[in-house]
Amino acid sequence: MSGRPFLQIPGPTNLPERIVRAMSRPVIDHRSPEFAALTRAVVPALRQVFGTREGAVIIYPASGTGAWEASLVNVLAPGQRVLAFEHGHFSALFAQTARNLGFEVDIIPLPWGQPAAAEELEARLRADRGPRPYQAVLAVHNETSTGVTSNIGALREAMDSAGHEALLIVDAVSSLASLAFCFDDWRVDVALTGSQKGLMLPPGLGIVCASPRAIERGQSGGSPRNFFDWRPILRDSAAGFFPYTPATLLLFGLREALTMLVVEEGLDGVYARHRLLAEGVRAAVHAWGLANLCAQPACYSNTLTAVVMPDGIDSDAIIRRARERFGLSLGVGLGRLKGKVMRIGHLGALNELEVLATLGGLEMALLECGVPLALGSGVAACQHVFVRAPAGLPRQGGPSPAEPA
Ligand code: PLP
Repeated sequence: MSGRPFLQIPGPTNLPERIVRAMSRPVIDHRSPEFAALTRAVVPALRQVFGTREGAVIIYPASGTGAWEASLVNVLAPGQRVLAFEHGHFSALFAQTARNLGFEVDIIPLPWGQPAAAEELEARLRADRGPRPYQAVLAVHNETSTGVTSNIGALREAMDSAGHEALLIVDAVSSLASLAFCFDDWRVDVALTGSQKGLMLPPGLGIVCASPRAIERGQSGGSPRNFFDWRPILRDSAAGFFPYTPATLLLFGLREALTMLVVEEGLDGVYARHRLLAEGVRAAVHAWGLANLCAQPACYSNTLTAVVMPDGIDSDAIIRRARERFGLSLGVGLGRLKGKVMRIGHLGALNELEVLATLGGLEMALLECGVPLALGSGVAACQHVFVRAPAGLPRQGGPSPAEPA
C-alpha cells in the first residue's frame, strides 16, 4: 500500500521521524561519560512529566507489565493484602499480577466503563480495621480497555478520609505524557508507565516513579527480587549508570521525546492538544449515532475512545475492514469487550489532520460493514470542533480554545 499506514491503536503510538533519527545511531559505551550525561538529561525531565520533585525515577528495559511487577515487588511482601479495582481489562490484569506474585488481593468490582470509585474505596478502607490491614491500593489512571480516566486525587482524598496508611500505586501506562499526572499533589507512592504510548517511543522501557515513603518501604521490605530491585538502580543512576546493560538507543529516543514534549511543546500544550483531538473524535462518534463506552463525560479519556458497536455488528469485522482496505489500525475490544467495542487511539505524536484521516477511514469501514451513517458526518463534526480553535493547536500551553469558557 502506498502512503503511510495509520497506527491508531491506543499504543504503541506513531514514532515521530525525529525520534527514529535520534535512535538511528551507533550504540555507545554505557559506562562512558557520554552515557552518564544521557541519563542525567532524561531523569529530571521524566520527573517533570510525572509531576514530582521528590519522587525517584527508575527506568527498566521492560514493558508496562514489567513495570507493574517492579511497582509491587519493591514495596510489598508475599502474603500482604492489597485492594484493587476491577473495571476493565488492565485493572483486572494488574490485580492478577499482584495475585501471581503472592499478594492477597481484594477487589472492588465495578461495571467496565466506570471510573475507580472513591466512595467505595473509602468505605472499604474504613472497614479495614483488622490486624492485617491493606498495604497498598492499586489503581489504573486511564483504563485503556474502556477509555475511562479515573480521578486519582479523589482516591487519595478517600484514603485520607478513611485515615488509612496503605500505599497508593498507580498505573499511568496510557496517561503519562498525554494527560496531566500530579504525582506529588495526589501523593502517589508508586506510578508506572511504558515507553510506547504518550512518550512516543517504541515498546521497550518500563518506567517507575517512587515516593520517598515507597523507597523507604523498599529499603528493608518488599519481596525477594532481582531484576526489578530498584535499590541498585537508584544507587547507580545517581552517577548516571545502570547495574545492567540499559536499552541505550531507546534512551536516546527518550531524550528526544522529552525535548519535544517538555521543552518545545510544553506539557500544558501537550495536554491541551490531547484534549482537543479527543473532543474532535468524541464529536464524530456522537454524529455517527454511536455510544462512548464511558458514560460519564467527566471521565472521558483524552487518549482513546472506546466506541460501542450497534447490535449485530462485530467490532472485529470493522477493524479488519479498516486495516485491509485503508491500512488503518484500530484497537480491538479486550477481554469481555471482544467484538463489542472498538478503540480509537488518539495519543502520542498526532495532529488534527491525522485525526480527520483516521475518522474518514473509520467512517468508510463502518458504512461498508453495515453501520447506517451519513458519509462525512463524523468528519464534519470533528472539523467543527477543530475550526473553533482559531490559531490551530494550542502548542504553547494554556487552555484548549475548544474548551467552553
Ligand atoms: N496498563 C495499561 C493501562 C495498559 O494499557 C497496558 C498495555 O496496553 C499495560 C498496563 C501493559 O503494558 P505492556 O503491554 O507494555 O506490558
